[in-house]
Amino acid sequence: MKQNTTNSASIEVAVAFPADKTFVYAVPDSLAPFVSVGKRVLIPFGKRRITGYVLGFADREGNYDLRCILDVLDDVPLFPPEMIAFFKWVSDYYLYPAGEVIKNALPGGLNLSDSVTLGLTEEGKNAHLSHFLNPTETEILERLKKNNMRIKELSSSLNREIPLALIQSMEKRGWIVRQMELTGATTRARTERCVSPVSGISRDEELDKKLSVPRKEILRILEEHGEISVKKLREYVPTAANLIASMAEQGLIRICERNRYRDPFGESIDPDREPELTAEQQTAVSAILSSLGKGFATWLLAGVTGSGKTEVYLRLAAAAMERGLPVLMLVPEIALISQTERRFRARFGEKIAVLHSGLSAGERYDQWMRILSGEALITVGARSAIFAPYPKIGLVIVDEEHDTSYKQGKDLLYNARDLAVVRARQSDGVAVLGSATPSLQSFYNVRIGKFREVHLSLRVERRPLPRISIVDLRKIRDERGARRFITPELHRAVAETLQKGEQVLLFLNRRGFASFPVCAGCGEPIRCPHCDITQTFHRLDNVCKCHYCGFTREAPMLCPSCGSVHIQYLGMGTEKVEDAVKKLFPEARVARMDRDTTSRKGSVLKILRALKNQAIDVLIGTQMVTKGHDFPHITLVGIICADLSLSFPDFRAGEQTFQILAQVAGRAGRGQVPGQVILQTYAPDHFSILAAQKQDFRIFYQTEIGFRRALGYPPFTRMIQLRISGKDREKTQEIVQRLGESALTVRQKAEAFRKYVDILGPIEASVAKIADRYRWQMLVKSAKAKHLRRFVRQLCTENTGLFQTPGVRIVIDVDPFFMT
Ligand code: ADP
Ligand code: ZN
Ligand code: ZN
Repeated sequence: MKQNTTNSASIEVAVAFPADKTFVYAVPDSLAPFVSVGKRVLIPFGKRRITGYVLGFADREGNYDLRCILDVLDDVPLFPPEMIAFFKWVSDYYLYPAGEVIKNALPGGLNLSDSVTLGLTEEGKNAHLSHFLNPTETEILERLKKNNMRIKELSSSLNREIPLALIQSMEKRGWIVRQMELTGATTRARTERCVSPVSGISRDEELDKKLSVPRKEILRILEEHGEISVKKLREYVPTAANLIASMAEQGLIRICERNRYRDPFGESIDPDREPELTAEQQTAVSAILSSLGKGFATWLLAGVTGSGKTEVYLRLAAAAMERGLPVLMLVPEIALISQTERRFRARFGEKIAVLHSGLSAGERYDQWMRILSGEALITVGARSAIFAPYPKIGLVIVDEEHDTSYKQGKDLLYNARDLAVVRARQSDGVAVLGSATPSLQSFYNVRIGKFREVHLSLRVERRPLPRISIVDLRKIRDERGARRFITPELHRAVAETLQKGEQVLLFLNRRGFASFPVCAGCGEPIRCPHCDITQTFHRLDNVCKCHYCGFTREAPMLCPSCGSVHIQYLGMGTEKVEDAVKKLFPEARVARMDRDTTSRKGSVLKILRALKNQAIDVLIGTQMVTKGHDFPHITLVGIICADLSLSFPDFRAGEQTFQILAQVAGRAGRGQVPGQVILQTYAPDHFSILAAQKQDFRIFYQTEIGFRRALGYPPFTRMIQLRISGKDREKTQEIVQRLGESALTVRQKAEAFRKYVDILGPIEASVAKIADRYRWQMLVKSAKAKHLRRFVRQLCTENTGLFQTPGVRIVIDVDPFFMT
């Protein structure tokens, strides 16, 4: 491949279609001026027309006839050429077609033609007088005489597709103009009038004599505060608004309009000032900065909850930006603008771009273009922001790097945490992975010298970590009602906390009222008819719901097995906890935060706002409450049952349990008052629980790493999981069997495979049916990543038929996370 524009007659194109290679297409002369790397093109593919991405200019190998591209779909490239190496790496590693990788990487709504309207210019109105127009051009100009139209509308009114290249050429000739119908360049911004001091004004006595008292006061305040909003100024000098205009005319002060950002609470995000770093923060910042700009390095920032990791990120970002290096700040996907985004906004104002699912298509397009143009050097975003279109990344930070939301759960199953390290490496940049509970993988990388470590072992202002007491649930096994899961210890602690006017957080990682409805007549549990799992009873809506496929039926119901009316609602969920708390503490204001209470837009916000304003005394929630919230009045965290996730059929069950517990515990005592945690468990001796009690991931690591080594699990091996599912049980099972046999055959074919590749299964999945699809899985693992990928690739190429069986889906998951 050559970057050769003189011979631009053919280009390399990645198609957004399952194909494991790129293709070469010819460019007709008429389109040549519009083609460049990073734009989309419309191409003929078989009998269809599909979208492709221009990866580069290509040599015509041999003298065969190439097919021609049909159109160029973008005005400006959607990504810089430097990113192609990254896309290709992702494609190769995740065994995913390059064009599909790019399609997944680009945010939806980048389709320019959807958000652009066309209008007619004066020249356009008269074009027919002086130019020879082709019929399409004539028709377009005719339509646009009546009113402005979107390209799509134009196409449908003319009953055919209009090549974008034609629009572009008409635009070049000055006949039509495009108008962007996009929201402003920033999200949730509002301008506000501000005043700032003018340097060089000497406040001598003479000036002071001339000025009235309030004017003098204004100057003094500006001297003290620097720039300040008029609104704030009026808190000091109520008449300020009337005085500033004349003062500005005299050259005493300067007035300007500033963008002010609001957070989702509707509160304005004021610019903040850098606090003085703690000694530990300073050490961490200096260490990481010493490597910035000196080639690739990865740092693990292990800092206990509340130790001020975000301030470290802010300093690193500021330093990188000062040197002109782009910064990527990744945060876990949460239902809401994150604390981190708020604080980056406060520190850097409009210098940041944000990328997350809360943006409209237009906003996302704006943000993307601000990154592409180099206007925003810092991007804060969730998982998908790893694809932010910077040619090179100077610094990439991953906050809460252990968080499972960095793993994409559908389509391209990438892990943004891992890709952060890859992008840093390709850019000769620095990656920083931060967490209070680092993943085993990352800490292992520290141990073998791949990553460097800095740590923050103290909370800011030396606030103590919460004290965690473990309570054995087994001793109340025979209790009934609420006392089955609210132990006397927890009951007492809640009562005391409420008495002091402080807040309580109760955590249970399961929603609904009863997770195990069972027939008292025949003993059969109430199962989802579409999944191999019991339904959960939701009392508030009076339904039984399936948490896998969503199938819902009215309760009370007759037992589907025997017709009995006596259904017992065993097992618990957050709804049952809420019910119990309301009964035990009738005075308390209780709220619940889980997927059931937050499905409506704005509801998370409402709960968090109430929590912040102390309009809630007890908040009950699932994992949603563990993430990133900083509420100073929560002094008690109660973990209703710590071991729900321990029994998951996943080798990471212990790790995830430890992380969730330590994180939820870390929500306590973040303010002035120290916090305490009551952790209830049926497994008080389990090392994951004990390590969480100490809030020390090293203790967890010591034990867990031994298990992983002995059992040959990551980080000592890599895994690829093949998940096979289909609605027709027999047919799916047949494919599974053939795939399993083929895997064994392929393994025999190469020495390296026999030596390094292990095949487990295929076996029926632990939830054998979801949404009427029967599920199997096959796990392939190896200590050598290279052989593992080669093996699976060969398995795919030798079985293209199997992979394309109608009605049977085979998903390849590299480094799988959720092994249900
Ligand atoms: P972490 O992410 O490590 O849990 P945060 O970054 O949320 O911790 O910091 C906890 C609190 O400490 C925040 O309210 C933050 O504003 C405050 N903080 C951080 N660094 C400092 C500092 N150097 N001086 C004073 N307060 C700080
Ligand atoms: Zn029954
Ligand atoms: Zn179901």
